[in-house]
Amino acid sequence: MDITNDQDRYDIIFTSNLNSDDLMKNQNNGIGSESCVAGHAMATWFAIHLRCRKVIVITDTNVAITLEDELKSLISYIRKLGLEVHYKALKPGENSKTLKNAEKIWEQMAESEFGRTDLMIAFGGGVIGDLAGFCASVYMRGMAFIQIPTTLLAQIDSSIGGKVAVNLTQGKNLVGSFYNPELVIMHGKFLKTLPNSVLSDGIGELIKYGYLGNPELLNTLKYFGDINGFKNAIENDMVLFDDMIQLALRTKKVVVENDFKEMGIRKYLNFGHTIGHAIESGENFKISHGHCVANGCLWALRIAGKWDDYYFLRSLMDSYGIPVLLEIDVSRIMVYLRRDKKSENNGVNFILTNSVQGHIENQEKISMVDTRQLILAQYKENSNLSDEEFLLKIKNSARIQWFSFDELQKKLSVLAER
Ligand code: NAD
Repeated sequence: MDITNDQDRYDIIFTSNLNSDDLMKNQNNGIGSESCVAGHAMATWFAIHLRCRKVIVITDTNVAITLEDELKSLISYIRKLGLEVHYKALKPGENSKTLKNAEKIWEQMAESEFGRTDLMIAFGGGVIGDLAGFCASVYMRGMAFIQIPTTLLAQIDSSIGGKVAVNLTQGKNLVGSFYNPELVIMHGKFLKTLPNSVLSDGIGELIKYGYLGNPELLNTLKYFGDINGFKNAIENDMVLFDDMIQLALRTKKVVVENDFKEMGIRKYLNFGHTIGHAIESGENFKISHGHCVANGCLWALRIAGKWDDYYFLRSLMDSYGIPVLLEIDVSRIMVYLRRDKKSENNGVNFILTNSVQGHIENQEKISMVDTRQLILAQYKENSNLSDEEFLLKIKNSARIQWFSFDELQKKLSVLAER
């Protein structure tokens, strides 16, 4: 897959082919045969594209332990290319996305005489990708960086699209830039070690893509049934799992290619995020990002009065163990909505979806085998669409509506009492 925007061009390598044969076949660099998917992909690509001497790998301590073998192989691959490798593992979690950590990384690189043509690799979830990407975007006014996302959320969302940032105590992602990686390498294998809560965070973003004109994503989640069914698919139903990830990636890719700086259609990707972010901040980040996004989608459906879609999503969230937040503190939510980056003229631009066409109804009445076939056929039909047709489908799936803060407060208060 190849992604382009007006400033940049980068490759996305996604494979959930666990034996990595495809990548092995393509590589011809005489480096050996360790089973390191990221290493294989990168070594081949490196030889062609980059002129760096030094590489710094940024990760978190959790990932360093859980994916130790993969990380070691990756580092050994880079060393075998004759490059000097540096390494930094931060504490896991949102609290690491700070200017202080960015400064530590910049200082480590400056001490080790990194130049602009050297390379940073983010190996981890969205926190590491956002932080490392931000560091790379301003170190010597911009150095090359590669994303190797290891969570579902990072694979289908945060590693693509070039948004990089750190948090301030005043709020999330307040300092950042648009800066694309040179390459994104992702693999289904990384997802196998994710705890349920982290996996279901990514499902929140899959739900968002589902309501942007991709009913097959919602059908697939319904078909997998729950988080265990989803995990089972990562192990045993690569065809369907692959289709699902590819569709999510295509949605992000096509939208971002058309509107890198979020002047129009890219705003649709904020579906579920306006209320989602307000819940996230209002709850002091105790509820994770993806779970807040799923709830934001739920509230957007309530605001639009899309009750069938609302009940469908509510039951989906229940099945996946995503908390359903129907009792919200409206005045607290309003405080954060007023501070939202997208607010303007004493109101906020809200993304509302149209009803999703293409739900497979009454799944219990058709056999699981038939349901799976129907879903696969939907993916096939979708993949036959040209990028223009695909984009049009997304454009037709939602709309942007401006609400004054007063109007929104009234709506939320009425709904909160229902
Ligand atoms: P995260 O990076 O904190 O990862 C979640 C947890 O999973 C961490 O504890 C991590 O150590 C662990 N982990 C990572 N990979 C693992 C693996 N393979 N096996 C086991 N454990 C693993 O969180 P996240 O959900 O990946 O990302 C959330 C961040 O992404 C937030 O800061 C959010 O603002 C940001 N984000 C950015 C964008 C964007 O466009 N830039 C989009 C969405 C979200």
